[in-house]
Amino acid sequence: FLEYAPAPESQAILNLRSEYGLFIDGEFREGHGTPFASISPATEKHLATIAHADAADVDAAVAAARRAYDRTWSRMSGADRGKYLFRIARLVQERSRELAVAESLDNGKPIKESRDVDVPLVAAWFFYYAGWADKLDHVGLGASPAPLGVAAQVIPWNFPLLMLAWKIAPALAAGNTVVLKPAETTSLTALLFAEIVQQADLPPGVVNIITGAGETGAALVGHGDVDKVAFTGSTSVGRAIARSVAGTNKKLTLELGGKAANIVFDDAPIDQAIEGIVNGIFFNQGHVCCAGSRLLVQESIHDEVIDRLKTRLSTLRLGDPLDKNTDIGAINSAEQLERIRELSDVGEAEGAERWTAACTIPENGFWYAPTIFTNVSTSHRIAREEIFGPVLSVLTFRTPAEAIAKANNTPYGLSAGIWTDKGSRILAVADKLRAGVVWANTFNRFDPSSPFGGYKESGYGREGGRHGIAAYLKTAAPALVAAAPAR
Ligand code: NAD
Repeated sequence: FLEYAPAPESQAILNLRSEYGLFIDGEFREGHGTPFASISPATEKHLATIAHADAADVDAAVAAARRAYDRTWSRMSGADRGKYLFRIARLVQERSRELAVAESLDNGKPIKESRDVDVPLVAAWFFYYAGWADKLDHVGLGASPAPLGVAAQVIPWNFPLLMLAWKIAPALAAGNTVVLKPAETTSLTALLFAEIVQQADLPPGVVNIITGAGETGAALVGHGDVDKVAFTGSTSVGRAIARSVAGTNKKLTLELGGKAANIVFDDAPIDQAIEGIVNGIFFNQGHVCCAGSRLLVQESIHDEVIDRLKTRLSTLRLGDPLDKNTDIGAINSAEQLERIRELSDVGEAEGAERWTAACTIPENGFWYAPTIFTNVSTSHRIAREEIFGPVLSVLTFRTPAEAIAKANNTPYGLSAGIWTDKGSRILAVADKLRAGVVWANTFNRFDPSSPFGGYKESGYGREGGRHGIAAYLKTAAPALVAAAPAR
C-alpha cells in the first residue's frame, strides 16, 4: 500500500506517490475508511488515491497528539520549538517548486499564484511564528502563557497549504500539538507537508494529518480529548461546529464566509482601482473568503469603471493552471461549479444584467469565465450570498454614508476595500465598516504579522499576528490578549 509508485501523469515534476496514507504519530498508515481519489479539476485526471480516516483513525491521531503533547512538545523550551518551525519554513522554501505545482494540479489555481503567493506565504507564516516561540515566556507582565493542549483543525480547499500554515504554525509555536484535516478535494499538499514534518524530524505525534470528508471532520472536532477547535470553511458548517463544541471546555475559533464590498469613490486612482477590483474578485477564481465580490462604485464613474473593467477582463487568460501565463484557473470541483452556475442564473432571473468575458473554455475540467453583473440591487441574492467564484456584483452609491450603509448591509463582515485619494475619507469610512479587515487603495494583501478574521457570520477569533498566537494559549499575558475593538 505505501509503496512509492509514482502516479503516471505528474511523476516528471513531482514524484507524487500513487497512494497516500494518513499521517499519524510520525508515519504514514492505512485508513480504515474507503480511500478516495484526488483529481485535477483542470483535466479531471486522477492524481492520487487518498486514505479515508474513520472514527478509530481519528482516535489514534488524537491519542498520538496527546502523547506528543504530554511527553515532548509542551515540555520543550520555546527556543527549541522555534528551531523546528524555522526548519519547516526552510524546507517549504527548498520544496517550493514542487509544492506550487502540486497545489496548482490539485486545486486548479494558476501556478503564478501558488508559486508567488501561496507557497511564499506558507514559509513566511512559519518563519513569523517561529520567531514568537522563544519570546512567549517574556511577553506581558508576569504570567507565562501556557498552551491549550491538542488542537483539532479543519480547513477548506481554496488555499489548502496556506490555510494549513495559518493553523499549524501558531499552534506549534505556542506549544500545542495538532490533528489537521484538509478538505477532501485538496488533500495532496497537506500530505506533502507531512513529508516535510518527517524531514524536519519533528517528534512523532506533534503534527498529524488525517484525510476524509465532512464526517471525519465532525468526528475530529467532536472528539472528547481535544482542547481547541480551529475551523475555516462555510458558515453553515461553522455553525454546526459551534453547536457541537457548546457545553464543552474546548476553545473555538471560526473563520467563515464573506461578501466583501470593494468601495470605489470618484476620486480614486482609477488605474490602480481597476487592477484592485480585478485582483479582488478574480484572484484564485474568486475562491477567496475575503474576495471583493461586491463592487460599490460611485454613480458618477459607474459607466467608465464598467467599460474599463470589461476591457481589462477581456485580456485575462483562462486555462491550464500549470501555464505560467494563466490568470484564471479551474473551478475546484464540479459541485462548486454547479453552485456558481445556479447563483449566477438566479442573478439574471432577479433582473441583474450579466456580462461574461469571451474566452475559450477547455473541453475537460471545471471552468467558469469571469463574469460581471450590473444593475444589482441590495435585495438580490447575488448581492447577499457568497458565490465563491469569479463573479462580480456591481452596485452604485452617491454619498459616503450610502456606501457605508450598503457595504454593511450583509450578514457577513470579513473584509472590505476603499479606493479614494483622500486619507481622511479612508479613516472615516474604515471606522464605520463592520469588517475585520479593511484595505485602502489595495486588496487581498496578507502578512503574517497582521490579524485576519471576521465580524458577524464571518466568524470569530483572529488568525495572524499576536492575536493568532493568543488563540492557542491558556493564559495569554496582557500584551497578547486578542482585543479587536467591539463595534
Ligand atoms: P466547508 O465548510 O464545506 O468545508 C470546510 C471543511 O470542513 C472541509 O475540510 C470539510 O471536509 C469539513 N467539514 C464539512 N462538514 C463538516 C462537519 N460537519 N464537521 C467538521 N468538519 C466538516 O467549506 P468549503 O466549501 O470547503 O470552503 C468554502 C468556504 O470556506 C467558503 O464559505 C469560504 O468563505 C470559507 N473560507 C473562509 C476563510 C476565512 O478565513 N474566513 C478562508 C477560506 C475559506
